[in-house]
Amino acid sequence: MTPGDRKRMLDALGLVDWRPRPDRIHASTGNVADEPAVAVAADVVTDEQAMERSPVPPSVEQGEAAPAQADTSLDEAPATFASARAEASDAVAEHDQRDEPADPVPEPTVEPSTHGQPGDVSQMDWDELEAWLATRDHRGASRPVFGIGARDADVLIVGEAPGANEDAQGVPFVGRAGKLLDRMLFAIGCSRETNVYITNICKFRPPNNRDPNAEEVAADWPVLERQIELMDPKLVVAVGRVAAQTLLDSKQSLGKMRGTLHRYPRRELDVLVTYHPAFLLRSPGQKAKAWIDLKQIAQRIAQS
Ligand code: URA
Repeated sequence: MTPGDRKRMLDALGLVDWRPRPDRIHASTGNVADEPAVAVAADVVTDEQAMERSPVPPSVEQGEAAPAQADTSLDEAPATFASARAEASDAVAEHDQRDEPADPVPEPTVEPSTHGQPGDVSQMDWDELEAWLATRDHRGASRPVFGIGARDADVLIVGEAPGANEDAQGVPFVGRAGKLLDRMLFAIGCSRETNVYITNICKFRPPNNRDPNAEEVAADWPVLERQIELMDPKLVVAVGRVAAQTLLDSKQSLGKMRGTLHRYPRRELDVLVTYHPAFLLRSPGQKAKAWIDLKQIAQRIAQS
């Protein structure tokens, strides 16, 4: 990884590179004076600072090749710093999905096996499908949020459900979490403008911003399935627990599902599970793990 790639990755994830203070470097040897080894400022960046960072580092050309291989030094440094809080944060990640705090609601029981068939979408093209979705019950939402991006992309990003910003604009991931997602994708040479498509399990914002329930998941499932069919991606990236459990027809925790490539149950398709960007905004110490996931995505894309 070139220094430019490294800077781009750190900027994208809101991480701060560690540099020895000049007064800690021995004049004769150039070595850093004895100092605790955990000085990597992985989570000194506030949410606001992270949001203020330029989404496009000026030194980097759009569309530049994604990092082709893992940089182990990056694997270790921020992870070391973050590890103390990792376990606790993993537990939070099970819940903490969308931009605004959700009302305290009981854990939803997402039952992919109960996916309903509210209409025959199986022959619809993209435009017909989007138009059909607009005719469905909005369940209190302002509008459907169908999806955005390159419909012929190799990578499909699937989130949970629209939040308030998405409901207002009709576009997925446009709030603070969405901006972080864009920066993360940019770090591996991806963007919604060029080579990924982004959508959600649920196409309508759940009332009070709560997690989608099983009925809502079932109602919108045929649309997502048709989107997958039409797109025929090489890789689906499930961001957050609800997306991962639904896509993989699993009740496993996000922590258990993360870290390995899964096979989508209903077709030949790889699924990678990672943290929801809204969770990363609240738990910046986990961004090091997200970077590991991003590198895996980049590697998988490079193979296709
Ligand atoms: N969170 C999601 O899961 N999806 C969005 O579109 C926005 C926030």
